[in-house]
Amino acid sequence: MKNLLVMKFGGTSMGSADRIRVAAGICAEQRQNRPAVAVVSAMSKITDLLLDSLRRAEAGDESGVDFNLHNLRERHHEACRAMLEGDARAATLVGVDALIADFRRICHGVRILGERPPRSVDEAVAIGERLSSLMMAAYMESTGVPARPVNGSSVIVTDALFGNASPLMEETRGRCAQVLAPMLADGILPVVTGFNGATADGRPTTLGRGGSDFSASILAASLDASELWIWTDVDGIMSADPRSVPDARVIEQVTYAEAAELAYNGAKVLHPRTLAPLVERQIPVWSKNSFHLAHPGTKIVPSTPATPGPRAVTSMANVALVSIEPASAAVTGARIMARALESLAAANAEVLAFSSSSYRQSFCFLVRNEELAPVMKNLEAALALELAHGYLKPIEVDQNVGLLAVVGEGMRGTPGLAGRIFMAISRQNVNIIAIAQGSSELTISIVVRRDGLERAIRAVHSECRLGAGAPGEIRDVAEPAQGR
Ligand code: ASP
Ligand code: MG
Repeated sequence: MKNLLVMKFGGTSMGSADRIRVAAGICAEQRQNRPAVAVVSAMSKITDLLLDSLRRAEAGDESGVDFNLHNLRERHHEACRAMLEGDARAATLVGVDALIADFRRICHGVRILGERPPRSVDEAVAIGERLSSLMMAAYMESTGVPARPVNGSSVIVTDALFGNASPLMEETRGRCAQVLAPMLADGILPVVTGFNGATADGRPTTLGRGGSDFSASILAASLDASELWIWTDVDGIMSADPRSVPDARVIEQVTYAEAAELAYNGAKVLHPRTLAPLVERQIPVWSKNSFHLAHPGTKIVPSTPATPGPRAVTSMANVALVSIEPASAAVTGARIMARALESLAAANAEVLAFSSSSYRQSFCFLVRNEELAPVMKNLEAALALELAHGYLKPIEVDQNVGLLAVVGEGMRGTPGLAGRIFMAISRQNVNIIAIAQGSSELTISIVVRRDGLERAIRAVHSECRLGAGAPGEIRDVAEPAQGR
């Protein structure tokens, strides 16, 4: 649709009546000039609360569930009371209570069953987004802006991988044309729930934690939007996490590829799958701060003028390095790798880095801590014979590690860069455990000892001169950094 703007508001941007007022104000302002769609997250911490309730229900902890439901209701009632009046307030409170009753019903079922079927979890957990979209649309209506809550399950069609579903783009496009286009044509602002979808035959799904960004990009692509704005509580994509690097700065522009690498390697600002749907139609994305409207944010675009050198450093602390080493020449390294990767895929785990070398054909890979248990279970089953016969050494797991990733399209073919990064880390007396660089040369991944991770990040950030004092976007990386 011509000139359409899709805007996604994250949990903190929906976190209270005051925040919802700000979000609604942004929507009202933008829709004066062009059609707009809002995509909303649940209020901050609500998804965790819902998941915790389901776990408690499974464990038979009835009073724990009741306590959570009480908090859930209080939080939403409080927001409604603060921003709505009269009939609008009464009607919205009825809607809120009906959704909470739905959630209670699912918890009850889980308690009786003593288990949490994934599709029930997906149906239940999306209620957080349905609550916030209901409130936001009601508030907008009350200020005279025609708006309507839309359940993402009516527009985003997905596969049946509950908890981490992927969109079926063609079908989703059709639904968007049926459901959203008519509203937009009537001047109504759809307030769509982020995070959830449904299979073609209507079974509820979710797109993975933090998936509302992904919902917004799926909708932007399906509606041929001209821009996507993602509203969060930070000023944009930063050169490093400011909690570990005090002089980290907001980057003006990054490419899709860089932003995707940063998200994949632990930058929290974007869900890693967000950008994929936008690439084909080259829809630009802005990452903006709803707590700091004056800041322009970061623009994510198909390409930027080539600037030499890295763009940002990111890290992940909750990771585990798994090492596999043949003990005998009788095993074929490639075959072991193939089976190991097969079992990672079967565990639906993401390989954050993979590195192999040596005559022995040993290899190691990095996974998230929370994915370690299923990964190990599958690996040990897949390699049981070799382990039992001593063809493989016992699989080693090291959780005392962290991942540091340096990202930038401009690193391609920059000689000496890797050496400078390694030197900077070693000057901090931080041990480098493994290194991986994909052939795209977009990211250098370095696994270090966990207790040295923060020091290593600061050192690399300053070596690459990414800090606030850095001179503009152009960096001469061939020259050693000054001022150390
Ligand atoms: N509410 C969901 C979550 O917390 C989705 C999102 O906010 O993006 O994971
Ligand atoms: Mg998020």
